[in-house]
Formats: sequence, C-alpha cells, structure tokens
Amino acid sequence: MAKVYYHNDIQDEVLSNKKVAVIGYGSQGHAHAQNLKESGHQVVVGLRKGKSWDKAEQDGLEVKPVAEAVADSDVVMVLLPDEYQPSVYEEQIKPNLKSGAALAFAHGFNVHFNQVVPPSDVDVFLVAPKGPGHLVRRTFEEGAGVPALIGVEQDVTGEAKEIALAYAKGIGGGRAGVLETTFQEETETDLFGEQAVLCGGLTSLVKAGFETLTEAGYQPEVAYFECMHELKLIVDLMYEGGLEGMRYSISDTAQWGDFVSGPRVVNEDTKARMKDVLTDIQTGKFAKGWILENQVNRPEFSAINARENNHQIEKVGRELRELMPFVKKSQSKEKDVVTH
Ligand code: NDP
Ligand code: MG
Ligand code: MG
Repeated sequence: MAKVYYHNDIQDEVLSNKKVAVIGYGSQGHAHAQNLKESGHQVVVGLRKGKSWDKAEQDGLEVKPVAEAVADSDVVMVLLPDEYQPSVYEEQIKPNLKSGAALAFAHGFNVHFNQVVPPSDVDVFLVAPKGPGHLVRRTFEEGAGVPALIGVEQDVTGEAKEIALAYAKGIGGGRAGVLETTFQEETETDLFGEQAVLCGGLTSLVKAGFETLTEAGYQPEVAYFECMHELKLIVDLMYEGGLEGMRYSISDTAQWGDFVSGPRVVNEDTKARMKDVLTDIQTGKFAKGWILENQVNRPEFSAINARENNHQIEKVGRELRELMPFVKKSQSKEKDVVTH
C-alpha cells in the first residue's frame, strides 16, 4: 500500500518561521488561507482589488496586491483559476519571487504542461486536496479534513517535501491522509478522473439514461428522479462502504440488475474509449486544445454550455428542485458568490 501520512506523523515546525502567500481567494484560496491561519501559520492573501479582496478582509485576513504578497513571503501558493495562472505568474509572481522561496500549486496542470516555468532557484511543490474548496474549509471546521496529494517538482532547499507535508497538515489534509505523488501523476489522473468518470462520464451516463426513458414515452419527471435525483443516495452509500456497502443496501433485484446489465452499458468498448481519452491527456493534446480555446475567448465552451443548460433534464430538474426546499443549493453556487 502507498505510504499515507497522517496529522500526527507530520512535523510542521518547518513552516513556523515562514510566511505563506495564498494567491486567490476563491474555492480553494479561502479554505487554504483560513485553515492555515487557524493552524497557527502566518498568512497573507494576494489579490487584485475587488470582491475577493473585500471578502478576505472581512474574514480577518491580511490582504495585499499579488506582487507585494509574493515579495513578502517564503511560500507562494497559486490558487487562481488555472487558465489565468500563466499571465499572473509572468507579470506579478515571477518578478517578485524570493530566491530560495517555495512556489506551490493545488493542481499540476500549468507546470506539467509548461505554461508556468519556475526559475531554478525556488522549491516547486503541489498540495492538491482531493475535494472542492468549500469542503476543505467545512471539514476543517468540523475537526476533519479532505485527503490531499503532495508532490515535489523541484527541491533546492532540501526541505521541499517537509514544507509540502506541513502545508497539507495546515489545511487539514493530515486528518484524512496525505499521499505522495508527482506533478505528472496528479495532473494526468485528475484530468482523467474528471473527464471519464466524475464529470464527463457521469453527466453523459445520466443524460443517456434520461433520454432512453423519455424517448420510450415515460414521463420526464419520473425519468429525472430515476436517473439524477437518486444518484446522490447511491453515491453516498458507495462513499461510505464501497461498492459492497452500496449493494448491501439495495434490493437483490437491483443488485442482480447491476451485475447483468451494468457491463452491457459500460463495456470493453467504453474502456477502449477511456484509454483514448487518457492518451489525449498524456500526449498533451487535451491541454493544447483547452489552452487554445481560452486564447480565443472560449467560443466552443460557451456554445456547448448554453446547449447543455437547455437540455430537457435540466428544465425538469429546475422545476422539481423548486418543490423540494430540502434539496440545498449546491456548494458550487456558493463558489459563484465568492468569486464572481
Ligand atoms: P477559483 O476560480 O475559485 O479562484 C478564483 C480566485 O482567483 C478569486 O479570488 C479571484 O479574485 C482570483 N483571481 C482571478 N484572476 C485574478 C487575477 N488576475 N489577479 C488576482 N486574483 C485573481 O479557483 P479554484 O479555487 O477553483 O482553483 C484554484 C486552483 O486549485 C486551481 O489550480 C485548481 O485546479 C485547483 N483545485 C481546485 C479545486 C476546487 O475545488 N475548485 C480542487 C482541487 C484543486 P476576484 O474576486 O478578484 O476575481
Ligand atoms: Mg480533481
Ligand atoms: Mg481538476
């Protein structure tokens, strides 16, 4: 089994005489900054004037323009949206980074795909929580944490791994477990997970199921409950007890259907296409497409997004959720409030 570091295994003195600049105060930024501060570390938040700046100040944090926060700090954690990191890095971070400081990320994309090329006189590491920022904060407040990956790309001080571990502990990762990885593994597995399973695979599975039922003449409302709403209950069971735990709770009929029909829907062909998706990630083809899409102001992203939001399952879902006040607005809505 891979080595997993827990809270009490991790020495964090290495961070105690260091100042940490958290650049950005969005989903991850607000969680890292507040958790680190409450863990006893010195934190400054680097931002431009605007909503996030006001929010960070209201939360009692020291806030400075990005360039000043960087110049003032020993560890610089870049928590801007991945698409904006290269330009902010070139203009405001790189010119102010102290020699011997540490440059840190929560996702390896920009370093792995050469969109950010750090100088040779700083440590470079990642601390990637395996969960949304709002859970990194909420679980910390509850005395728990979200698992985190750490990875060292460049170690000039000889302390990069210790600093990364201490940082991961400071945001609460040690309470759930911290695993060591590389920028390459973190980037490629993160992209694959969100594309093939968590986001892309799942939304396509849900829509295909919904369309199959409605095209066969069943009511859209029934199809929505069946193919979307109930998913949460099943996923909660899998989260708590794996596939076995989930199957223990469903009926034997459902379990038999799972065994005989699941592999008819997701089969060797599906897996072959997953391998194609992985190949495009590994060769940089996916990264190149996404970088170019951003350079031309996201025409395809916007068109697909508008079409997706108009899908019948979305219209039916909006109406049904209005009638279920107990279905809380998601954390991602909260993210919009925080960032835009
Ligand atoms: P967000 O989109 O939530 O970050 C937005 C923040 O960046 C806001 O505070 C915004 O401030 C600030 N910002 C944007 N542009 C600038 C700029 N030009 N100058 C200064 N500040 C700016 O990012 P995430 O938290 O989602 O992602 C941050 C990193 O964490 C990424 O590398 C991502 O891959 C990684 N990650 C994210 C996860 C998540 O849960 N979302 C999970 C794991 C990793 P303003 O209000 O001024 O616009
Ligand atoms: Mg991820
Ligand atoms: Mg990701």
